[in-house]
Amino acid sequence: MFDKILIANRGEIALRILRAAKELGIATVAVHSTADADAMHVRLADESVCIGPPTARDSYLNIPALLAACEITGADAVHPGYGFLSENARFADILESHNIHFIGPKAEHIRIMGDKIEAKRTALRLGIPCVPGSDGGIDDIDEARKVAADIGYPVLVKAAAGGGGRGMKVARTEEELVDAIQTAKTEAKAAFGDDAVYLEKYLEKPRHIELQVLGDGQGHAVHLGERDCSLQRRHQKVWEEGPSPALNESMRSEIGDTVAKAMCELGYLGAGTVEFLYEDGKFYFIEMNTRIQVEHPVTEMITGIDLVNEQIRIAAGAPLSFTQDDVKLTGHAIECRINAEHPATFRPSPGKIAYFHPPGGLGVRVDSAVYQGYTIPPHYDSLVGKLIVHGRTRNECLMRLRRALDEFVVDGIDTTLPLFRTLVRNQDIQNGVYDIHWLEKFLANGGMDDKPKG
Ligand code: ADP
Repeated sequence: MFDKILIANRGEIALRILRAAKELGIATVAVHSTADADAMHVRLADESVCIGPPTARDSYLNIPALLAACEITGADAVHPGYGFLSENARFADILESHNIHFIGPKAEHIRIMGDKIEAKRTALRLGIPCVPGSDGGIDDIDEARKVAADIGYPVLVKAAAGGGGRGMKVARTEEELVDAIQTAKTEAKAAFGDDAVYLEKYLEKPRHIELQVLGDGQGHAVHLGERDCSLQRRHQKVWEEGPSPALNESMRSEIGDTVAKAMCELGYLGAGTVEFLYEDGKFYFIEMNTRIQVEHPVTEMITGIDLVNEQIRIAAGAPLSFTQDDVKLTGHAIECRINAEHPATFRPSPGKIAYFHPPGGLGVRVDSAVYQGYTIPPHYDSLVGKLIVHGRTRNECLMRLRRALDEFVVDGIDTTLPLFRTLVRNQDIQNGVYDIHWLEKFLANGGMDDKPKG
């Protein structure tokens, strides 16, 4: 096992990793920018190192500074969390060449899945069903026209290096296609430094359903059920739940077994998420994330498995400690991502938290790194915390979530808490009947217009 883990991240995920390390009896090193000197992960870690100024490029993404921090503290492993360097294969390679363990998948798998065109090819080869689309990148407009005519409009132009919903454009007609490709390329170049794009059939009313997987790179891989992340704004997840209200046991086993078998064949090591769109009873692979995800607690609550603990153990060379048959899904869990944003306009609202009172009680978990008096810096994402609630049934979970949301107080900044208080009382949400466009339509129709802030 490792002696000391350096956590190359900040916020709630840094704290989450720190907790798992402490439970395993492993010493922890926090790194932080000058803007995060007062952060909770810095206070709770055994040691901390300042790695640069507030801009992420100069601190949390600064590989030489992170290596120096490992050197100074003698850390023998690095956990990258999510975002920042978590899916950077070069970082994984560099650590390895310095004899430091990267707590994540093999660099080769990060590379394959980081290129969405390559990822789709690999998925197809492994027998995972994909969204119909171009075989590879689209280089010229005549080829694009031909592919689009073959798969049928509407089509979606997507960036090969995509992430965070950027570089994605819908074209409903051949006339719109040229523009969509141009805009997607420009956006992709600006966001990822790579303007490669590809085409996919645009699905009109799918759900986003993703499978959590764990592999030990030693011939074993399991799936831990699914999360339904269909409630999205600008292709960003807002509310995640598991199991999906749209799946039954046999559908779950079928797609789960396909995915677990594929991960086994790939020799996948660590935690990962295989993402699908689901429409009319069919699954379509869109991408794989080779890291721990924001919404991982949903799976932890219904399986009782500590995913970060498993990540650390696997990275240290341990085989999976359980089989597929040992994985039992119990009850229902929902996660709300609470952001420092206005609940109707989504304008960011960094600043000082004057009062903070998180909810508690049976089945209620709050993963957050903020505290009363803490000032949310403007430099990073706006996540204040995640409220995760578990119940024996979906109904019990919804009742408990409503209660927990009503108890939650965050004063001094705007948060999206009022949005969740509205959603949990909505009939469609209660019935579990929603697709990936539901939330955008709800907001466009003024669903939050008359709601008070807070
Ligand atoms: P990113 O890596 O940028 O998050 P994804 O491929 O994971 O991109 O897609 C993000 C979201 O965009 C999906 O959850 C879904 O809402 C939407 N999306 C992606 N592909 C399609 C498609 N072919 N048809 C309809 N919506 C899509």
